Amino acid sequence: MLRKAEIIAVGTELLTPHRLDTNSLAITERLNDIGIDVRTKAVVGDDRGDLQALFVQALERADLIVLTGGLGPTDDDLTREVVADVLQLPLEEDPSIANRIRGRFERRGLRMPDINRRQAMVPRGAKVLDNPNGTAPGLILERGDKLVVLLPGPPREMKPMLEIALRHHLEPRSGGVKLLRRILRVTGRTESHVEEVAQPVYGRWSRGPDAISTTILASPGQIELHLTTLSDDVTAASARLERAVRELMDVLGADVFSVDGRTLEQVVGALLRDRHIRLALAESCTGGLTTSRLTDVPGSSDYVERGIVCYSNRSKVELLGVPATLIETHGAVSEEVALEMARGIRDRAGVDMGVAITGIAGPGGGREEKPVGTVFVAAVRTGEPVVRRFRFPGSRDMIKSQAAQAALDLVRRTLRSEK
Ligand code: ATP
Repeated sequence: MLRKAEIIAVGTELLTPHRLDTNSLAITERLNDIGIDVRTKAVVGDDRGDLQALFVQALERADLIVLTGGLGPTDDDLTREVVADVLQLPLEEDPSIANRIRGRFERRGLRMPDINRRQAMVPRGAKVLDNPNGTAPGLILERGDKLVVLLPGPPREMKPMLEIALRHHLEPRSGGVKLLRRILRVTGRTESHVEEVAQPVYGRWSRGPDAISTTILASPGQIELHLTTLSDDVTAASARLERAVRELMDVLGADVFSVDGRTLEQVVGALLRDRHIRLALAESCTGGLTTSRLTDVPGSSDYVERGIVCYSNRSKVELLGVPATLIETHGAVSEEVALEMARGIRDRAGVDMGVAITGIAGPGGGREEKPVGTVFVAAVRTGEPVVRRFRFPGSRDMIKSQAAQAALDLVRRTLRSEK
């Protein structure tokens, strides 16, 4: 049975600062889905000795070794040869592969260069995976009860071939085990505040045959709790995860905004649509980021009326009708101005809800009473207007993204409280 996997990404370009090995992330995700654990990942340049050493080690430790890259036709594409060498399998030309590659060239009116015949060389006994998007075929080899999978480097070639390998060669040997995952998205608390209340809950599930493992991932303004469990009984495991999600929602309350994979902008969009509310936004320090996120969701024209960027004081006066004296008295970054901006955009747009954001994204412009990271977010609807003051940490772009997140979240909380 396949349990432990190692991934080797081959290619000197992956060792430069310009190219990232993203294939191993995609491969890890799909292997995890069928209960296979990735224990080690490596990136290696186009060097025969280095690749050989890594592959020999991987073969000792893992049940499954997936190699990507280095299957091209040139001299520095060594993966096929090194693997055949270590497994002591002779390379033999497969005429059907050569014909297929020749056909690809001919369809483009080209002659197949002789070097491409190299891609038709197959270690004896290997199964061949067709490559619908390129010339390099993939290969699957068995060594005792271990499996070795060779996939090409370009992601658009690799991914469909990985799916075929999974379906026909890996899943049947993964013991029917599946990984189930639920993601809770939380906003309005720091990572340690989430951990403080969540750990005593998820700590109880972390052992035993029905264990659920929990990972916390933090990004500015958002914490994710990933719950995963392995099982060959999908119904029972789904129910177990559902109970776990409920328990966490009980302790985290309204700070949990999504348990079904939806983003905050999707959640807010659904709330607006359900309540038939149209929204207008006036953004200063976020420069349109909040509106941009809302309009990432297809169908958002149903509830986004407009968003304007009113960066200067003059624009706040001219476009929103904020009294110049209010800005002079309180400053453009203030509770009073945020509220007037929200009222201004709501009234001028003639909609039900106005939202405004004004703040100091830095790195300059901070004062003692309003340091960098100070942001006011206001929402006005029919009832009491709401305004919140935040002090966000981090760089300019982190402050902008936290401010946009806070604005979306204020809309969510305002609408939730109306139900
Ligand atoms: P081909 O013959 O189609 O080029 P190959 O297997 O020889 O296949 P490589 O030459 O190793 O592929 O890689 C080609 C390109 O694919 C690289 O320049 C890089 O842009 C991309 N690539 C390779 N490996 C990876 C990886 N692990 N993650 C993301 N991209 C990759």
